[in-house]
Amino acid sequence: MSNNLPEKICMLPWISIETSPIGTARPCCLAIDEITKPNGEKYSLREHTLDEVYHSEYMQDLRGQFLAGEKPETCKRCWDEEAAGRTSKRMNSRIRLKDYYDDVKWQDTNPDQLWFLDLKLGNICNLKCRICGSWSSSKWAKEEIDYVPELKNRKEHLAYTFLQDGAWPRENADFWLNMNTLLPNIKYLEFTGGEPFLIQQHFDFLKTAVRTGHAEHIEIHYNTNGTQFPEDRELWSHFKHVEIAFSIDNTDKRFEYERYGADWNEVQDNIGKFHNFFGKNMYVVDNSVGANTAGVVNSMYKRMAQFANEDQTNPVAKQWIKKARELY
Ligand code: SF4
Repeated sequence: MSNNLPEKICMLPWISIETSPIGTARPCCLAIDEITKPNGEKYSLREHTLDEVYHSEYMQDLRGQFLAGEKPETCKRCWDEEAAGRTSKRMNSRIRLKDYYDDVKWQDTNPDQLWFLDLKLGNICNLKCRICGSWSSSKWAKEEIDYVPELKNRKEHLAYTFLQDGAWPRENADFWLNMNTLLPNIKYLEFTGGEPFLIQQHFDFLKTAVRTGHAEHIEIHYNTNGTQFPEDRELWSHFKHVEIAFSIDNTDKRFEYERYGADWNEVQDNIGKFHNFFGKNMYVVDNSVGANTAGVVNSMYKRMAQFANEDQTNPVAKQWIKKARELY
């Protein structure tokens, strides 16, 4: 069924939605515009469900644009990448999700195939990372508000709005009831944040997935700051695959400077605990791979190489030392 589709078609509007920490939604994390209602107002997950967003006129129109061979404005980042000769997210998705390509109901602009969810479940977080802000971290939002003197002024501050909106996963019970109905279709869940391990509602949702027998067809990816080793981790053994990425872009005091509020030794301990828990099925992904500060990354490896020794047992230390030795 996928023959004769326009060359620039993208799979994601048919099968995916991304939610933001403050409860807005987009077809994917690179789309420029948030999904809106016919009156131009942004959908808010404080009041709406994912089903409503996925079946919205906006999404139907977007799919229609792709089917008509157009290049939607909201996808400008992909068009710019492709014009520069690089591989866009659209192209990557085509490769990564090739096994699903022929199953997509391409001619249906209002399908029922919400398979991949990229969920930033609010902005609750215990850290104030220097690369972050009030949009994604309740700690940053609280600090910003603390600098505003008057109570009235505080409520007018943008950070106050982020703090309120960032609580949406704890406030909209209908969102989770709707998520339960989506379970038969879901193939992949990505949880980032905020700090996803602080969102109890997501563990409750995973429990429903286990209880209803849907866990076995679902893969999960997490991005965590590494400060938590959650009690509900036993749930993960029921899922098809679970992958954890740790936000680590430096070591020791530099790490604690960049990830304010985190304790380097505690995070290393937690990664060791995760490793023991998962055994060979664990994937440790350090952020240095995608970091845009190559100098910092190289100096980190150089430093690791200096104190590399055979006694290291921590899996992350071993992984980094291996890379360091390859480089230096
Ligand atoms: S074309 Fe690019 S920006 Fe648009 S939905 Fe696909 S991946 Fe996202």
